Amino acid sequence: MKIIASLVTVLVSGVLLSGCASRSPFSRTEFITLEATGYCKCQECCGWKRNLLMQPVYASGAQKGDRKKIGVTASGTKAKPGRTIAADTNVFPFGTRLKIPGYGWGTVEDRGGAIQGQRIDLFFRTHKEALKWGRKTVTVQVDRR
Ligand SMILES: [Zn+2]
Repeated sequence: MKIIASLVTVLVSGVLLSGCASRSPFSRTEFITLEATGYCKCQECCGWKRNLLMQPVYASGAQKGDRKKIGVTASGTKAKPGRTIAADTNVFPFGTRLKIPGYGWGTVEDRGGAIQGQRIDLFFRTHKEALKWGRKTVTVQVDRR
């Protein structure tokens, strides 16, 4: 029984790892036009404030008042400029790689309240850089994992 159980495990993990194996490599590349904005880890971009103990907490929403880790994405990674993208994970699940003209290849690691549907938010080092990016309509290359 033990051998069968481990065999099942191997089969299941094999399926998970190669979920798209039956598709041709060409069908993995798709292009989508969407709206891209910029954000950083600041209070204004991420909706947090400091409580009486000067600890960062959520400023609004369901988690209002809860401690917030600054610069940590919704998927638990450390937000990195030139890499971290926030998206609607119903459209682009965590781990989806997107190539954005003017930003380069990034990975969906974060979510945002206003980031719904055909919208993405690109992480920048500073608020100034995020503002400089502004709001652009871009055609991105999608690499679904
Ligand atoms: Zn900011």
